[in-house]
Amino acid sequence: MNLSRFPRRGYVKEATPVEFLPAFSKALGAGVDIWIKRDDLLPGTSGGNKTRKLDFSIADALACGADTIITCGAVQSNHCRLTLSWAVKEGLDCHLVLEERVPGSYRPEASGNNFLYQLLGVKSIAVVPGGSPMMQEMEKLADSLRQQGRKPYIVPGGASNAVGALGYVQCAQELMQQMFEQNLSFDHMVVPSGSAGTHAGFLLGMLSCHMDIPVTGIGVNRKKPVQEEAVYTLMRETAALVGVDMDIPRSAVVAYDDYVGPGYSLPTDAMVEAVTLLARTEGILLDPVYSGKAMSGLMDLARKGHFEKGSRVLFLHTGGSPALYAYLETFRGGWEGK
Ligand SMILES: *Cc1c(COP(=O)(O)O)cnc(C)c1O
Repeated sequence: MNLSRFPRRGYVKEATPVEFLPAFSKALGAGVDIWIKRDDLLPGTSGGNKTRKLDFSIADALACGADTIITCGAVQSNHCRLTLSWAVKEGLDCHLVLEERVPGSYRPEASGNNFLYQLLGVKSIAVVPGGSPMMQEMEKLADSLRQQGRKPYIVPGGASNAVGALGYVQCAQELMQQMFEQNLSFDHMVVPSGSAGTHAGFLLGMLSCHMDIPVTGIGVNRKKPVQEEAVYTLMRETAALVGVDMDIPRSAVVAYDDYVGPGYSLPTDAMVEAVTLLARTEGILLDPVYSGKAMSGLMDLARKGHFEKGSRVLFLHTGGSPALYAYLETFRGGWEGK
């Protein structure tokens, strides 16, 4: 897939590391070797997957002549933090619309990403109830900013449209090149699956190069069929944008919903275990909402024998660790191991 004809800003200057996790693999004790791709180390304030997508989304905004970015997310949104971060870097204003998916969860004085919104100089924050039509809320804000003479550009939630998903097509291409250069092979890959752009772009990038390594998505919110349909639809839209005519097998799209727990952003014991175990074996921080739950899924699948003994499983670390600081109480109880 030729991505070079799409405008991008060059936020991703080098490949993120691919690392073996020897102590974590041993502690897991499931006879599989776990590897990690460190997209938590991408540039942009505190790193994370949204930088790859925003590389294309912000370039599109600038091509449209925008001077202001509007985006949306949950109250502790990594996507909002990174969109704001790159807007700052580009000299653009940034306004956020936050969806209070858990009633009463927005606290202006909260730590984590919320603190960073303030520190990075967000222009405005509007909080709307869970289930609100986010695109309409952002359109309303865009209208009022236009009346003030601004030129707003709306980045959809998670930057998960076809433009943003190009960033994860690029990630798949980058990973393939690393596998070639470093003589690496993997039997499975595991990715978090939220607003779907990461999963969709990555899987499309793999399939379009005939890399038939199974990619397992771990959902953090929606039910399996709904999430898989969202990923599949976005894959088709992204393929259309790139102009590739390929049959995308629906069966390649897998997004388990078994690790969501009580709901989006609500902690699970398995998430606490995953975050704590990776921290204590490898010194790497996951997050409570996405990568922690996704890793808890990988661990459960490994323990259940889903991956063959001796197989090599690559986990895509999408970042998010600033959100940990909004979950201190969850972790104070600690996880003492089994
Ligand atoms: C947004 C996010 C995800 C999910 O990526 P999507 O493209 O929205 O599916 C995973 N991990 C972290 C840390 C995120 O911020």
